[in-house]
Amino acid sequence: MDSNLEFDAARAFAGQEHNHFIGGEWQPGASAGKIDSIDPGSGTVIGQIAAGNAEDVDHAVDAARAAFPAWSATGGIQRAKLMWALADALMANASALAMLESLDNGMPARMAGFGVMGAAENLRYNAGWAGKLAGETVSMSAPDHQAFTIREPVGVVGAIVPWNFPLAMAVAKLAPILAAGCTVVLKPAELTSMSALKLAELIAEVGFPAGVINVVTGHGAEAGQALVDHPGVAKIAFTGSTATGKGLLASAAGNLKRLSLELGGKSPTVIFADANLAAAAEGAAMSVFMNSGQVCVAGSRVLIQRSVFDQVIEAIVARARAIRVGSGQAPDTEIGPLISGQHRDRVLGYVEAGRSEGAEVLAGGKVRQGEGFFMEPTVFVNARPEHRIMREEIFGPVVAAVPFDDAEEAIAMANDTEYGLSASVWSREIGTALGAARKIDAGTVRVNGGAGLDPAMPFGGFKQSGWGRENGREGVLAFTETKSISIKL
Ligand code: NAD
Repeated sequence: MDSNLEFDAARAFAGQEHNHFIGGEWQPGASAGKIDSIDPGSGTVIGQIAAGNAEDVDHAVDAARAAFPAWSATGGIQRAKLMWALADALMANASALAMLESLDNGMPARMAGFGVMGAAENLRYNAGWAGKLAGETVSMSAPDHQAFTIREPVGVVGAIVPWNFPLAMAVAKLAPILAAGCTVVLKPAELTSMSALKLAELIAEVGFPAGVINVVTGHGAEAGQALVDHPGVAKIAFTGSTATGKGLLASAAGNLKRLSLELGGKSPTVIFADANLAAAAEGAAMSVFMNSGQVCVAGSRVLIQRSVFDQVIEAIVARARAIRVGSGQAPDTEIGPLISGQHRDRVLGYVEAGRSEGAEVLAGGKVRQGEGFFMEPTVFVNARPEHRIMREEIFGPVVAAVPFDDAEEAIAMANDTEYGLSASVWSREIGTALGAARKIDAGTVRVNGGAGLDPAMPFGGFKQSGWGRENGREGVLAFTETKSISIKL
């Protein structure tokens, strides 16, 4: 299909009536409430989703609980086959899904396409674990005993995801949940639910049993909160802001449900003088400007060794000025708009705070007038460690660059944050690069442009960036309980 037709198809899908996907059926909400979906590139309403409430969540949890005994008893190979079928269905609909995601979220359709591909790969990777979740035999201290462990699925999972990579985030939750043998209620972000609704259509088409995967749309404070409060939910897998994550702790205490938290970051990019400076500058720029900085691992602080500071900052500024900011549906766009007018104003507020606290803008710093929520890639220098732009997650295309003298100072600066999600290190010297990687407090450290995410690589935060790990074997085991069985011989 050509991209004009895909755009029309995405508009038509967005404009349809949307309900919740519960127990394998499309069900209208218990209330008539609706939430507008807005195209961030134009600021116009493209459709409406149902504003789910506690009653809808209750129905969805009931459906997931009813489906749990049969699904958890289904063999790993059978579950894997369905996961592969869903991956194939995603790929068969990849360009349509990418266009829909671009329209709803604003990101370039090309990048959304990578998200669809990544989602399919995630399902295939995790499908491989479905039949391989073994326990271990245990040598006991008690005489005449033998024990072993088994891994059992934890139960119904509530999966709550943010708006920055809507489909990829949703599937990254579903894949290990399904592999572990759990059933799930997914609550997409209220700003970007369209791709999750399209995903639910594909879930129905490929034949997942009713109730294994349910999708309830709605506001965080209502549908999301109801899911976290629900006593029938065994675990909440949450990705979102640190503030919201902290708020969930008290709610989850009700039935001591398990909680995994993938939260915010203030990730450092550390560039040593001996690095490939051109690659480092490009890596540093795209790490924070990609997806308009609405990336949890965005390298929003760049620490550059003093002897090469001017050279590297010049390259980052040049890249910031050259980035093609525009509609996500235009083929040559590198970065699209911010998600909403409110978020754009928040990001602009940080730029104003940076200026008023004494930092200097070398590139960008302005929002684009006219339609949509566009913001120029922005580079700050002369920021102090106590400035808000150095401490708080901005979640926009804004970077602050500061010089350091030696590795010890760089590591102290890198760790001077309450977050610990990710970091990047650039050096050609293995000892320098790995030494820094070992000493920086972050769940993922990328060396010389290493990938930040892969379904096989554990991902999660130190400090206030979260609890638990996604991806890899650890990511699937997170949806299981260990049971020990001992036998008296
Ligand atoms: P958010 O916390 O506002 O919302 C995330 C999700 O939680 C949404 O679906 C929202 O509806 C829901 N929610 C909000 N309040 C809730 C409540 N009281 N109970 C239950 N659910 C509730 O975050 P956001 O603004 O959508 O996303 C941006 C944040 O997400 C950033 O801080 C970013 O760093 C973080 N993030 C982290 C990762 C990671 O893997 N660590 C990945 C992407 C985004």
